[in-house]
Amino acid sequence: MHQQIAERLTAWQAEALRDLPWRGRPAGARDPYAVWVSEVMAQQTRLSVVVDYFNRWMARFPTLEALAGADQQEVLKLWEGLGYYSRARNLHVAAQIVAAEFGGELPRTRAELLTLPGIGEYTAGAILSLAFGLPEPILDGNAKRVISRLWDVDGRLDLSSTTRQLWDLSGQMVEAASRPGAMNEGLMELGALVCRRRSPLCEACPVRRYCLAHRRGVQDERPVRAPGQRVPHVEFAAAIIWEDVPGQSQFLISQRPEKGLLGGLWSFPNGAREADDEDLRACLRRVVRQDLDVALEVGERAATVAHAFTHFSMTLTAFHARISAGRPQAVGVADWRWTSLDEIETFPCPVPDRKIIAVLRDRGGEA
Ligand code: SF4
Repeated sequence: MHQQIAERLTAWQAEALRDLPWRGRPAGARDPYAVWVSEVMAQQTRLSVVVDYFNRWMARFPTLEALAGADQQEVLKLWEGLGYYSRARNLHVAAQIVAAEFGGELPRTRAELLTLPGIGEYTAGAILSLAFGLPEPILDGNAKRVISRLWDVDGRLDLSSTTRQLWDLSGQMVEAASRPGAMNEGLMELGALVCRRRSPLCEACPVRRYCLAHRRGVQDERPVRAPGQRVPHVEFAAAIIWEDVPGQSQFLISQRPEKGLLGGLWSFPNGAREADDEDLRACLRRVVRQDLDVALEVGERAATVAHAFTHFSMTLTAFHARISAGRPQAVGVADWRWTSLDEIETFPCPVPDRKIIAVLRDRGGEA
């Protein structure tokens, strides 16, 4: 059965595949660097969004060597808005390692690929099969869903035993394929276009006759998901600290430490409200004292914006502020500087900060 499914998916892939910029050549014979970049960008991000980012990226860094030689701030700037910035930092560092230790060529074994930062089992399988045509399994969200339904896997998706079972089945399918790259791509594409999370289009499915979940009428119940968890909500306060120089409209931004959420990006000094903080202004005075070692006079509220990350949602309230004592020092941040509404465009910034900047710009940058 694995072979029939593999061949049908391969044949279907040839007809149904969407035209995307990294799919210029047949699956199994693509530029490994382009496969890698596109796969990393597509993690947690819709393909329609990825296309523009991919084209800009490849125009600026057309080869692995170009990326390896780039400045990290430029890499982050090109990634701005895609989120999960560790992906960009890891791509950059991994390119430098490949240039230094692998002669500029992405390695062709799973074990070697897994030594590179940011490359996990899925990305390794995608590079090996889509670029090098090797019979290596993949397991992204789409493939998980299709395989769970084809074999009516009834274990919960968050259990490691289920993940192992899905990897095994993916491995058996790709082993049976005459064109492993095309089969893997067909598997993922089927999940995106036909075997959708809600209302799968079973009547149009090329592997319907082999699908156990369809035969048993349980496709809507597969895969079995973990009970839903509430995403926590966190309140953040940010300071738009204006430089106290007559005639100047400069404000302070700080660079986040390399490690951690949004590492390496520039933002308004900010922090999460803690239980001990009397209010958001008190929160701001505390975090700015900790991060920049200055005392703050917090003024009017400038804007409140909302943003959702995968693991939590946030509201970020920005306040106009001035330094009342001390000179800024990078204590809890990587760096800081004065900037203007024009100049800040050159810095990589998180999306919530961009929203605040848009509000300031609408108001003509008034303090
Ligand atoms: S028959 Fe339906 S549930 Fe089964 S793989 Fe095809 S689309 Fe998915």
